[in-house]
Amino acid sequence: MNASSDVTNSKKIKIAIVGSGISGAANAYFLRQTFCDNVELVMFEKADKIGGRLATFEFNGRLYELGGSVLHPSNNYMHEFLEKLDLEKKDKENSSKEALGLFDGKGLLLKSSGRAFGLVDKINFIQHFGFFQLFKFKKWLRSFINDFSKIYGLQDKGFVFTNFEEFLTKINPELYKASQKSLEATLREQKFNDRIINQLASIACLTNYGQSIEIDGFVGSVSLAGLVDDLWAVKTGNRSVAKKLIEKSSVELKLNTQVKGIYQDPSESDKNLIVFETEDKNEIRDNSFDYVIIAFPLYKDVFQNHFKIEFEIEDLKNLEMQITNTYIIFGEQILFTKMPSNKRINLHCTDPSLPYRSICVQLPCDYCITKDRNLYMDSPEKLYKIFSDQRLDEKDFDKIFKQGYQVIEKIPWKAYPKYVKNPAIKTIPRIVLDKARSRVFYSNSMEWSSSCMEISCISSRNVVNMIATKENVKIKPFFTKSKQIINVHSICKISSIVLIAAFLYSSYYKL
Ligand SMILES: Cc1cc2nc3c(=O)[nH]c(=O)nc-3n(C[C@H](O)[C@H](O)[C@H](O)COP(=O)(O)OP(=O)(O)OC[C@H]3O[C@@H](n4cnc5c(N)ncnc54)[C@H](O)[C@@H]3O)c2cc1C
Repeated sequence: MNASSDVTNSKKIKIAIVGSGISGAANAYFLRQTFCDNVELVMFEKADKIGGRLATFEFNGRLYELGGSVLHPSNNYMHEFLEKLDLEKKDKENSSKEALGLFDGKGLLLKSSGRAFGLVDKINFIQHFGFFQLFKFKKWLRSFINDFSKIYGLQDKGFVFTNFEEFLTKINPELYKASQKSLEATLREQKFNDRIINQLASIACLTNYGQSIEIDGFVGSVSLAGLVDDLWAVKTGNRSVAKKLIEKSSVELKLNTQVKGIYQDPSESDKNLIVFETEDKNEIRDNSFDYVIIAFPLYKDVFQNHFKIEFEIEDLKNLEMQITNTYIIFGEQILFTKMPSNKRINLHCTDPSLPYRSICVQLPCDYCITKDRNLYMDSPEKLYKIFSDQRLDEKDFDKIFKQGYQVIEKIPWKAYPKYVKNPAIKTIPRIVLDKARSRVFYSNSMEWSSSCMEISCISSRNVVNMIATKENVKIKPFFTKSKQIINVHSICKISSIVLIAAFLYSSYYKL
C-alpha cells in the first residue's frame, strides 16, 4: 500500500495495537489502508505467535481448526479479506458422507437418514414445525441479516458509532430493542411457536455460545443466523487471514510481549504511555504513542492478573468469559453405536446440563472434496473435536472411546463473553475509554454484544474510522463490489441446517 493523496494530513502518527488476533490484525490493515505511510504501527502480543482465538493444530501432517472455525456467507469483511489477500476457501464437505445425530447422554436418540437433508427429513421437519412458521422464520432471519449488512455500506462512507446502541439504532432501531430483552422474548413477540423457540433457537445458542435462549435477542439472532448450510472457512486456516493482514500492514510486531499497563503520559497529555514486559521479564515504558487500540477482551481475570489501565473501567471488572473446553481425540467412538461407522459423525447434545455440547469429526483445513472423499470413513478410528463446558478427563474419554484413543489437543478456551441472563442490565463496554481525549480505544468492546470474527472486523473498522475522523483523514471505501448482492444470494440458502436441526428435534420428540 503506497502513500496516497487521499491522506490530507501529512503528520505521522504512532499507534499501539495490543493483541494480534483478528481484531488487532484488522485494525492494523484498516489503519494502513487509511493512513498509508503516515502511520507507524507497533503490535504487542503476549503469546509466541499471532492469531489469538484463531488457531490451528497439526495432525498427520495436516492443519485443522482449533478455535474460531466457520464464517457466515454474509461475513463481508472476512470475504473481502480473502479476496484481497489471495486466500482460498476450504472445499465444501460432501454432505452425503456426513451423519448427524442427537444425543441425550444416555444413548443415541436419532440419526439422520444418511444424506444431510433428504426428502423424508424435509417432510418430517415441515410437519413438526409447521409450514407457515418456517416460512415466517426464514423471512425474519433474512430481514435480520439484511439489516445487519447495512453496516458495510455505512462504514465505507465513514459512519462511526461510539457505542453499541448507536450501532444498532442506525441499522434498525428494532435490533436495539431486541438486544434489551431475551431471545426467547424476542421470538415470542414475533409469535413463533414453542418448538421454534425451545428447540431450534436452543440448539443454535448452545452450539454457538454454549448458552441458553435467555441470552439477548441480538446475540441470539447472530446465533440463529449461523444455521445455514453454506458456512465457509479458509483453506490455509482462518488464522492465515490474521497472519496475512499483519504482514501486509507493515507492523512492528513484538511477540512474547505482554502489555501490563496503559496510561495517559504525565508529561504530554496527547501521548500514551505503555508499560510492557518482554520475554526475559524486562519491564519497558514507552510514552511515544498517539493512540492505543486494545484488541483483546477485558474482564475480571485480566484485571486480577495485574493489567492496569488508568481510565474508568469499573464496570468491566465484573465481566466474565464463558469457558469452552476443546478436546481433539483420535479414536473409535463407542458411545453412539448406532451411528453408521462409514460416515463422518456430527453429534449435538440437546441438554445444556450434559458434559458435552458436541462431538464432531474434523476435516483438515485443506480438505479436498475429490482427494479426501473417504477420509475418516474407511476406518472406525476418526479425528473428533469435543466441546464441553466442563473439564473432561480420562474417565470421561473412556466412556466415549475404545481403549487406545489418543488425546491430540486439550485447550480451555475463554471462548466468548458470558452473556447475562437479564439483557436489560447488561454491560456493553465503551469503545472510547478516555472520553475527553479519545486516544485509547477498546476494539473488543463490541464482543460483549455478540462474539464472532466478523464482529471483530466491524469493530476494528469503526475504531479506525474514529481515528481517521479525529485526524481529519479521508476514509477510503474498502469494498470493491456491492455486498448487498452477496447477502441476498446467500440468505436464500438459509434453510438447510435449520431444517436439519429441526428434523433432529422433531424426531427427538417422536413427532
Ligand atoms: C472454540 C472457539 C470456537 C469459535 N468458533 C467461532 C466460529 O465458528 N465463528 C466465528 O466467527 N467465531 C468463532 N469463535 C470466536 C472467534 O474466534 C473470536 O470472536 C475472534 O477470534 C476474536 O478475535 P480477537 O482478535 O477479537 O481476540 P483474540 O483472538 O482473543 O486475540 C487477542 C490477542 O491479544 C493477546 N493479548 C491478550 N492480552 C494481552 C496483553 N496484555 N498484552 C499483549 N497481548 C495480549 C492474546 O494473546 C491474543 O492473541 C470461536 C472461538 C472459540 C474459542
